[in-house]
Amino acid sequence: MKVLVINAGSSSLKYQLYEMLNENVLASGRVERIGMDSSIVTHEPADKPEVRDVSEILDHVTAVKRVIDMITHKEYGVIGSMSEIDAVGHRIVHGGEVFKGSVLVTQEVKLEIRRLFDLAPLHNPAHMMGITAVEAVMPEVPQVVVFDTAFHQTMPNTSYLYPVPTVLYRRHKIRRYGFHGTSHAYVSDKAARYLNKPLQSLKMVTCHIGNGASCAAILDGKSFDTSMGMTPLEGLMMGTRSGDIDPAIVPFVMNKEELTLNEANSMLNKHSGMLAISGISSDMREVTEAMHEGDKNAKLAFDMYTYRLRKYIGAYAAAMNGIDVLVFTAGVGENSPDVREAVCEGITFLGIELDKEKNRIRSKEAREISTPNSRIKVLVVPTNEELLIARDTNTIVKELQN
Ligand code: ADP
Repeated sequence: MKVLVINAGSSSLKYQLYEMLNENVLASGRVERIGMDSSIVTHEPADKPEVRDVSEILDHVTAVKRVIDMITHKEYGVIGSMSEIDAVGHRIVHGGEVFKGSVLVTQEVKLEIRRLFDLAPLHNPAHMMGITAVEAVMPEVPQVVVFDTAFHQTMPNTSYLYPVPTVLYRRHKIRRYGFHGTSHAYVSDKAARYLNKPLQSLKMVTCHIGNGASCAAILDGKSFDTSMGMTPLEGLMMGTRSGDIDPAIVPFVMNKEELTLNEANSMLNKHSGMLAISGISSDMREVTEAMHEGDKNAKLAFDMYTYRLRKYIGAYAAAMNGIDVLVFTAGVGENSPDVREAVCEGITFLGIELDKEKNRIRSKEAREISTPNSRIKVLVVPTNEELLIARDTNTIVKELQN
């Protein structure tokens, strides 16, 4: 079966085409600047050179058509015709409380995703444009939606409720949902396989730290708690997001600085985190570089970032009454030995013994970076959210065919 995985944003659309027999990526790519002049399509076939094409792509339907043109092109295409695509899987950021797993797209499912627009106004409408565009271009092809929130739907109410008037939960579904669920699910499963132990037998903390960052406490193979909340702003310090702050700061600053709601939102989402503290960049590479060159603000940003991560790991160890495995993933987690070392060296009392040499070795594979004596296994596991979306799509569409 061939599955096309799509991640549709408001002005971009990323894609990967999988052959599910051996889980090979046949091609991947992205369309950028949809709706603007000179949109760019970058197409990367597995065994051929990358192709870049600049043209006018005014909407998502045209973007999907261009993707199909690319993957079926006689020179740099990877399949003969569109009819070889058996299913399409979409990444959807918010599944609210309705979606506890991946599902086939039906009229009812689309309606539910629309009802969730309020909870993810920047993401869900764009995903919906992706779904309707695929419908328009490939009406016969079954589509599956995979939600960032679904994995965390197993959280107990002690984890997901906020201590605020309960009417807010009843009326507006104000609660913690958590995000990056596909990644936490993928890396926890992969980590258990790597260790050759049943996932259900392990108490795990997974740290997905990229531009956005979250950690999850995984107990009995299920999400027990996670650091992002009703929106992806809660929790860890991130590239440009503040993470946890005293909520009273918001009305206070709005009043003092005469900020509008949008300005307050933008301050916490786009102008905070590493960027605000370092004054240099939201990118961990640049911050680490500046820190090594002696920049004090960069060091402060790095120290705050790793300190806050350590606090969450400690909290989750307490929440689960123990921890067996610590997993690092995503851009920073997979590529920054400095961050991993600073985090692990500060929580040795838990039973973590980092192998500093192994920690410095670069690899694209899952690997252990703790010593054989370390009670807690520390792993780096490259995430692959697209593969999990492709797998779920494959499973659901196969069931449909039986
Ligand atoms: P996103 O959350 O957008 O998916 P990624 O998971 O790709 O982001 O993570 C992007 C971040 O990873 C960058 O901002 C950068 O800080 C970090 N990163 C990538 N490579 C390195 C590296 N070699 N060292 C430190 N940080 C890195």
